[in-house]
Amino acid sequence: MNPLSGMDHDILLETIVAITEQRDQQSLELSLLASLREMLQPSASGFLDLQTRSKPNKTPSFTLQGFVVPDTVIAEAMTLSDYDFNQIESDPLIYMLCMMGSGKGSLRRVLIVGLPSWNETSERLLVGMVRVYQNFMKLMSDSEKDTLTGLENRRKLESFLASRLTARLHARRETDKSVVGPGNHEYLAVLDLDKFKRINDTYGHLIGDEVLLSFANILRSSLRDNDRSFRYGGEEFIVVLQDVTAEQAEAVLERLRTNVAQHSFPQVGQVTVSIGYTMLDRQDLPTQVIEEADKALYYAKEHGRNQIREYAALRDLGVVQDTHQNEGSIELF
Ligand code: GH3
Ligand code: MG
Ligand code: MG
Repeated sequence: MNPLSGMDHDILLETIVAITEQRDQQSLELSLLASLREMLQPSASGFLDLQTRSKPNKTPSFTLQGFVVPDTVIAEAMTLSDYDFNQIESDPLIYMLCMMGSGKGSLRRVLIVGLPSWNETSERLLVGMVRVYQNFMKLMSDSEKDTLTGLENRRKLESFLASRLTARLHARRETDKSVVGPGNHEYLAVLDLDKFKRINDTYGHLIGDEVLLSFANILRSSLRDNDRSFRYGGEEFIVVLQDVTAEQAEAVLERLRTNVAQHSFPQVGQVTVSIGYTMLDRQDLPTQVIEEADKALYYAKEHGRNQIREYAALRDLGVVQDTHQNEGSIELF
């Protein structure tokens, strides 16, 4: 076994510093890849996204640094389970394959590193660096989750919304119809449990927590994979529906409302939810979108609770104030 040289130690330390400086999956991957290239000088290295390659025979060949990765290697990558490592030989290279995450959603990515030959040191280096990456990814994702419900938290919502609004802005500039075409909308809904304080007061805080947990489970089971749900705070939740028509958004939220109203919560019985929602459109800031949905929610609360209300419909009726009506004017205090 070759001990690491002083220079390798330096690079290793720099790698760990570089990896832990990152704050999102993509930068983390790039940083890991740059370090691996520096330390191992592989003939081929990169990430294979399994989501976009679900049909291996129908997609064009996969190339890394000029090397066409053989289909046998790709087929092997597809058999990996969560966090697995595997090695496969395909002349002239030997490929190390590492499933980068828990295999769900955007984490279904495999790191492929091809070298003419591997020794124990290079193998240990690769495995060690990937483990640092994986641990750090897990830390990052934990810091974006709500501990009670396991839903994503407010912090994650804010960065997610900011990135969606930026993407919409770019799409508008390029008039990319695939992002802002008709029927292809995004909606944000604020959900607030009705008279929740009374549940706490009557049954205690622990039972209140149970209700929040069951509610989060109803949310998860009522939504599709590409809809997102967040715990915004206390008994308030936010849902973002992607790629829906106005009718679909209304139907999904109405179904959610009925699923909650028809559920029998242990000890408590019936709990209802009020929902206010709005379309993501030309708002500049996440707070603007939330404010619109909040206005609709407030209206729902004032008009009997256990119902869904849309901001634009209420604005057109003149019963809620237009969020943008002061736009262009400068307010002095
Ligand atoms: P409304 O229908 O108008 O929304 O009435 P409400 O009672 O739900 O509204 P309010 O905002 O006055 O009360 C929310 C309550 O939610 C207050 C607080 O005790 C409770 N709450 C907030 N966070 C938690 C939590 O994490 N666990 C539990 N058990 N209760 C919480
Ligand atoms: Mg509330
Ligand atoms: Mg409430």
